[in-house]
Amino acid sequence: MNDLKRCARCITPETQETIVFDEHGVCNICRQHEFKQSAIDWSARKRDLDALIATYRGKHEYDCLIPFSGGKDSTWALYYLVKEYGIKPLVVRFDHGFLRPGVQENTARVLRQLGVDFHHFTPSWKVVQKLMLQSFLEKGDFCWHCHTGIFAYPMWVAIRYEVPLVFWGEPSAEYTAYYSYDQPEEVDEKRFNRFINLGITAEDMYVRLEGTVDERDLRPFTYPPIRELRRIDYRSVCLGSYIPWNVPKQVEMIQRELGWQGDQVENVPPGYTYEKIECYMQGVRDYIKYIKRGFSRPTHLTSLDIRNHRLSREDAVALRDAYEGRRPPSLDLFLSYVGLTEAEFLEIAMSHGVSPHHHDPSSTVNGGEVHDLHLWSRHGGMARKDAEAQLTRWRRRSHGREEAPAPQSDVKQPTATS
Ligand SMILES: [Zn+2]
Repeated sequence: MNDLKRCARCITPETQETIVFDEHGVCNICRQHEFKQSAIDWSARKRDLDALIATYRGKHEYDCLIPFSGGKDSTWALYYLVKEYGIKPLVVRFDHGFLRPGVQENTARVLRQLGVDFHHFTPSWKVVQKLMLQSFLEKGDFCWHCHTGIFAYPMWVAIRYEVPLVFWGEPSAEYTAYYSYDQPEEVDEKRFNRFINLGITAEDMYVRLEGTVDERDLRPFTYPPIRELRRIDYRSVCLGSYIPWNVPKQVEMIQRELGWQGDQVENVPPGYTYEKIECYMQGVRDYIKYIKRGFSRPTHLTSLDIRNHRLSREDAVALRDAYEGRRPPSLDLFLSYVGLTEAEFLEIAMSHGVSPHHHDPSSTVNGGEVHDLHLWSRHGGMARKDAEAQLTRWRRRSHGREEAPAPQSDVKQPTATS
């Protein structure tokens, strides 16, 4: 794995989507951070935020809508907007089906302390299962229902309640180069199609599932028509485009002020108990990314710390080597949810490999269990015959033959986010 080309400053390799290295071997994401730290007039941005909020305040049933997972970024966005502006938000959560017990506790704590209205939506598990398997087959990423639901569903709620102003948390320029800090990011349909939906629309999904779901089942995962959004005069923006995003400081604040608590995550170093703690399929997601791209969350987290001058490159490499790429115990749960064998899982994940990385399953080491694994739901495994039918349809449709495709060689495209 160490033969991948990596940034000379952080440790991100060439298999990261959107990465480009300059003549000094430094990646564009590191360069973007220099821009964030030096070239942005944050006080002017703050005045823009004041003006934006003033435009919409008091005109509708709610001043704004805040999509909310209960993780650190959405909790910070909610906390900041309520405390700094005394705003009246509608807080909306799309439940992907894997919320961990600690996040449920954090949510109750935060909502009660801030005194805000909460709208929670959980889509049908039967639909979610099929979507997970299909997107894993097609893109080597089983989270299509989550990527699309998280960004599309709150917009339907915005239309229904006529709440035009929508605040997301951190801008994607923190992690990737789809957008840069000098162009504030509108969280709109263009962005949705650019890197949220993995290049698969809900209509595509409907066709590929061949009548096993109702068209209406896919509504929560479909971006609403632009004319309906324009009718309410919507604005959908990232709070992090207006105030500098500083994760450790924000985590410290929400812990102190709201009692928000971090948690352990599978195969992530113990110092990062604030990151992606809201989903119990995170370990599987990271493992798949490692199989496809030769790196995962430890590289991502330590690279962020290097850019922010909180960690040396040597320490980052040591942490990465101690945690990255382990087989997570939660993989057994995932396999039962989608009805696959582990051999099929590996075959599918490896077929989506990003060159020049090539995964070697024989070197895999088992990762440790996290404390709440025994509490994660075992309900609702997919029947093997249903999984097989879906697998067969995919093989027939995409390749006209019975085997899975051979590993691809040039799939470093800016459509996948995992
Ligand atoms: Zn870099």
